[in-house]
Amino acid sequence: VVDLGMPTRSVVTTCAYCGVGCSFKAELRGDQLVRMVPYKDGGANEGHSCVKGRFAFGYATHPDRVMKPMVREKTTDPWREVEWDEAIATVATKLRDIQQRYGPGSIGAISSSRCTNEEVYVLQKMVRAAFGNNNVDTCARVCHSPTGYGLKQTFGESAGTQDFRSVARADVIMVIGANPTDAHPVFASRMKRRLREGADLIVIDPRRIDLVRSPHIEAAHHLQLKPSTNVAVINALAHVVVTEGLADKSFVAARCEGFEEWAEFVARPENGPEATEPITGVPAGELRAAARLYAQAPNGAIYYGLGVTEHSQGSTMVMGMANLAMACGNVGREGVGVNPLRGQNNVQGSCDMGSFPHEFSGYRHVADDTVRTVFENLWGRELLPEPGLRIPNMFDAALDGDFRGLFVQGEDIAQSDPNLHHVTAALASMELVVVQDLFLNETAKFAHVLLPGASFLEKDGTFTNAERRVNRVRAVMPPKTGKHEWQIICDLATAMGYPMAYDHPRQIMDEIAQVTPTFQGVSYELLDKLGSVQWPCNAEAPEGTPTMHVDDFTRGKGRFVVTNYVPTDERTTSRFPLVLTTGRILSQYNVGAQTRRTNNVAWHAEDVLEVHPHDAEVRGIGDGDTVRLASRVGETTLRACVSDRMPPGVVYTTFHHPVTGANVVTTEISDWATNCPEYKVTAVQVALVHPL
Ligand code: SF4
Repeated sequence: VVDLGMPTRSVVTTCAYCGVGCSFKAELRGDQLVRMVPYKDGGANEGHSCVKGRFAFGYATHPDRVMKPMVREKTTDPWREVEWDEAIATVATKLRDIQQRYGPGSIGAISSSRCTNEEVYVLQKMVRAAFGNNNVDTCARVCHSPTGYGLKQTFGESAGTQDFRSVARADVIMVIGANPTDAHPVFASRMKRRLREGADLIVIDPRRIDLVRSPHIEAAHHLQLKPSTNVAVINALAHVVVTEGLADKSFVAARCEGFEEWAEFVARPENGPEATEPITGVPAGELRAAARLYAQAPNGAIYYGLGVTEHSQGSTMVMGMANLAMACGNVGREGVGVNPLRGQNNVQGSCDMGSFPHEFSGYRHVADDTVRTVFENLWGRELLPEPGLRIPNMFDAALDGDFRGLFVQGEDIAQSDPNLHHVTAALASMELVVVQDLFLNETAKFAHVLLPGASFLEKDGTFTNAERRVNRVRAVMPPKTGKHEWQIICDLATAMGYPMAYDHPRQIMDEIAQVTPTFQGVSYELLDKLGSVQWPCNAEAPEGTPTMHVDDFTRGKGRFVVTNYVPTDERTTSRFPLVLTTGRILSQYNVGAQTRRTNNVAWHAEDVLEVHPHDAEVRGIGDGDTVRLASRVGETTLRACVSDRMPPGVVYTTFHHPVTGANVVTTEISDWATNCPEYKVTAVQVALVHPL
């Protein structure tokens, strides 16, 4: 520990880890960051923090950081440091050359949910206006894209319905496929406060997460379903609501459409708790009791995570939860709603900013002539009405030889995406891979150009958290690399023949507000005045919108959608008899690129595989033994942790360390609507590795 002395100044900024979006005072002595102090006026955290935001900022000054742009001809060549001008010119020349030889659609980019709204906005603008295609996708593709789809279909807006404070008014809290105490700790504290006050808790999760039983908290129901059966469970809950007359008929009649068809569907016997029990593994009596508890509560709130979205029916499940909430009148006031707990700091924002290949900012389709004309007039370029390639389509096209150049903004796809053999083969087949990142990450092994990024401490801009709250990110220090990330994008677009120039990110936000109805009223002046603001923020809501769909849904009437349960294609077999599911741990963050470079690593030095005692015993596996984990696409080795948190037949691991690489075994199966990978369900075999 180095004593840096008392701070002499402070800057209020936003944590760059999870989607809670806590505000901090970064306290400095001279140019040295002394500590991060949770900011009591932070709209999302009100003075609270977790061990990541509070302590895990050392990565920003870690010696592994890349400080100079680097290029190489072949990935087997050594890196050569160059000046920014040369690096930008190299990328622009090569991208243009690829387009001339293979066509305008042969290049594209992936945006990062770690970057600011402003950085993401200029990236998608560069792709659409300078690359001349819509081949831009976001890393949210692999986490919450089903949220965007499902909530848009049912409510009309691709975002959660509530602010975090709203949980204090909930009487029943239903947590589905989320582990807030580890992944969203500061929001979990709010939730636990409400539970200790007496709200009832329903947990739907294959794993016995801490929330199920913790000091002064005991879930009324833990529906410990088999992985991949979410939709059967939500339909069974809805079946009870409909067949037992628990629906809020006046809410449904006044505010919704499609109820009759949906109610007829869920009321069918095959959707009932008794019929689905063999599918889900959840006792029918538990399902009935949980449904009654949620439906009869004055206020029932749903919070969910990647255990919902990362399935082949992720989008269906999101719509299933929206159906259930509407049927029980649980939308449009405090204490209710359907709320995604977003993983990364700016997942909501990166989606809002138009980095899906089919949507401009504000979730407007590129085929909409009126919307496209707005952008064409402002950007001075004709834009394509056809959607571009999604991330998995880029990989497929690369292996077919049609996609040859990729710009990756702050995303380690060679570690975080599923079926890594497929991903790395696609990357290896490309003529140009450009990585913009703090570190030489796994993806950089396939890169020809490395453009060094800036940490959140070096950025001005905004992040948007899980409750649609736009928070200011303020630079604590200038970029150590000499260039802001938004400037890198602008310089590259300019070098490719499409001039893009801004003096400051506030100008980018002004442009976002100009073209995005939900951000119409957002400006840095407003953010400085209010601290933060939740979109929609416009003439009708000049100070933002904590609760959505109060009088009407964004789409007018809330829409019930029939949600058929379709079993995943990922089946256990005699060769792969167990199901692997994955999650996170409190001290680490995603693939660990940041947290592994801080002292937090001491709390979780490796990923382990949780194995039920029965499954361990029949395989001769003891606690701490090394085991081989294999699926039909790949294999890895980990240490076993014998635990009854998982039911027999299910194993669990985290994915924070590249050496164990859980995504070596996850498959290419994905959500039918959005291609979000089915990370949560992989048929595997586990075997003891005998010491030599
Ligand atoms: Fe950062 Fe999330 Fe922890 Fe808040 S809860 S300090 S946003 S990691």
